[in-house]
Amino acid sequence: MTAKEIRQAFLSFFESKQHHVVPSAPIVVKNDPTLMFTNAGMNQFKDLFLGEAAIKYSRVADTQRCLRVSGKHNDLEEVGIDTYHHTMFEMLGNWSFGDPARPAGGYFKKEAIAWSWELLTEVYKIPKDKLYVTYFEGDEKEGLEKDQEAYDLWKQYVDESHILPGNKKDNFWEMGDTGPCGPCSEIHVDCRTDEEKALIDGATLVNADHPQVIEIWNNVFMQFNRLKNGSLQSLPAKHVDTGMGFERLVRVLQEKTSNYDTDVFQPMIQFIAEKSGIKYGTDEKTDIAMRVMADHIRAISFVIADGQLPSNNKAGYVIRRILRRAVRYAYTFLDFKEPFLNQLVPLLAEQFKAVFDELISQQDFVQKVVLEEEVSFLKTLEQGINYFERQMLASKMWADSSVLEGGSAFFLQDTYGFPIDLTNLMAMEKGGSVDMAGFNIALEEQKNRSRAATTIDTGDWVVVNTDEQSEFVGYDDLEIETEILKYRKV
Ligand code: ATP
Ligand code: MG
Ligand code: MG
Ligand code: MG
Repeated sequence: MTAKEIRQAFLSFFESKQHHVVPSAPIVVKNDPTLMFTNAGMNQFKDLFLGEAAIKYSRVADTQRCLRVSGKHNDLEEVGIDTYHHTMFEMLGNWSFGDPARPAGGYFKKEAIAWSWELLTEVYKIPKDKLYVTYFEGDEKEGLEKDQEAYDLWKQYVDESHILPGNKKDNFWEMGDTGPCGPCSEIHVDCRTDEEKALIDGATLVNADHPQVIEIWNNVFMQFNRLKNGSLQSLPAKHVDTGMGFERLVRVLQEKTSNYDTDVFQPMIQFIAEKSGIKYGTDEKTDIAMRVMADHIRAISFVIADGQLPSNNKAGYVIRRILRRAVRYAYTFLDFKEPFLNQLVPLLAEQFKAVFDELISQQDFVQKVVLEEEVSFLKTLEQGINYFERQMLASKMWADSSVLEGGSAFFLQDTYGFPIDLTNLMAMEKGGSVDMAGFNIALEEQKNRSRAATTIDTGDWVVVNTDEQSEFVGYDDLEIETEILKYRKV
C-alpha cells in the first residue's frame, strides 16, 4: 500500500463506523495561551472534552498535522538520529465524544479496542504476533485502579503474553493538573527479524526505546475529571481519544526498518542525495543530515503555510531555530554552500496535494520565505563555524577542556545568529558541551545593558522598554504557561 492509500484506508474505515471525517486544524495555535503548536489530534477538540463547546458529531476521525519541538512534547533532539520521531508528523485519530444516547452516539473501550484491532489486523493485515498492547497497571500511591476492563477486552483478541501492564507515565493521560483524564492502552509493533526475536523476548522491549519495537497507536479513555483538590470524579460522559503515528504505520506496512525508507520521505531523501552527489545509506553522518533536512523542511513549510513567519520571537523563533539547524546540517555534512532547502518545498507541496492543500496554495510564498532565511543565515554561518572551531580549540589548549565558554556561545548567538541549541549540538558533536551557566549570565548582562540603554529619563518617572520588543532566545522544556522564557532586547 502507498502512504496515500494507507491514510485513506484509515479514514474510510472510521467512516464505515459512522465517524464524521473532519479537516486537520492548523499546526500553529493562535488562541490558546497554553500551547504554541498543535502537538496531538485532540488539541482542536479540547473545548469539547472540557464541556465548554457543544458536541456536533459524536464520532469524529481525521489526520492532524502535529509539531513536537517545544513544551511537554519536545522530540527535536531525537529527530534524524533515530528513525521514528519527527518534528512534524501526521497523527491519525478517531474520537468519541460522550453522550451514548444519540444515534451513532458515543462509544467507549469496547468499540475502540475492537476497531483498532480490526483495522490493524484485518484491513492493514499486520500479523497478530507482531503486536503488543498495554493497559494501565494502576497506581496505589495515586489511588488509581488498574484498568481491568481494558485488559479483559484485549484478552478476547490478543494472547496474554502480548498484553503488558504500563505505568502512570506511559498509560495514564492527563490534560493538565486538572480536567479530563484517564487510562490509556497503547499498541506497539515488533518489527525485528526472526533471528533478533529469538535472542530477546519482544515484551521486554516495549517502551524501551528499541528502534524496531515501536509504539504506533495510543487509545485514551477519558473517564475521570481531576478536581483542584487532586481527587478524581467520574465523568458523566466518557470520551475516547486516539492517536496513531502515520509515518510509523506506513513504515510497518511497507516493511521498512526506518520511517525515512518509506514513500513519505524517500522522494525528498533521493532529491537531496542526487543534488549533494552523496548516496543515502553510505555514511551515518551524511544519512543523519539528509534525514534532518527531509524532516525539518516539513515542519518549516507547514508552520509558514499556517501563518507563522520565522522571527526572533516565541513561535517565530522556534521555527527559525529549526530552519537554521537544517541549514547547518546541509552546509557542514553535505557541502551545500548555497541555499538549497527551499527547493524541497515544491516536492512537499505536491506530496500533500489533496491532503493538506494549504501548502500547494502557498507554495511560492513558502519557498520565498525559506530562501530568504537561508540567504540570511548563510551570510554568517561560515564565520560562526570558524569562530566556534577557534574557541573550542582555545579551550582545549588553555584549559584542556571541551567545554565552550558561555561568553563565546553568547557571542555566537548575538553576532552570528547561532541559536543556543545549535551551538549545543555542535559542541556535542565534538564530544563537548557548552557552559550554560556562563551563557545565561552573559545573556542576563546583555539584557541589563539594553534595559539601561533604553531607559528614557522623563524627569519624575522612568519608562523601561517592555518585553514586547524582546527577542526570544530560549525555550525550556515545559508547557508555555510554566516555562521559563528568556528574553533579551533586540
Ligand atoms: P513515543 O513514546 O514514541 O515518544 P508518545 O507516547 O510520546 O510516543 P503519544 O503522545 O502517545 O506519543 O502520541 C500518539 C502517537 O503519535 C504515538 O503512538 C506515535 O505513533 C505518534 N508519535 C508521537 N510522537 C511522534 C513523533 N515525534 N514523530 C512521529 N510520530 C510520533
Ligand atoms: Mg514522545
Ligand atoms: Mg510513548
Ligand atoms: Mg504514547
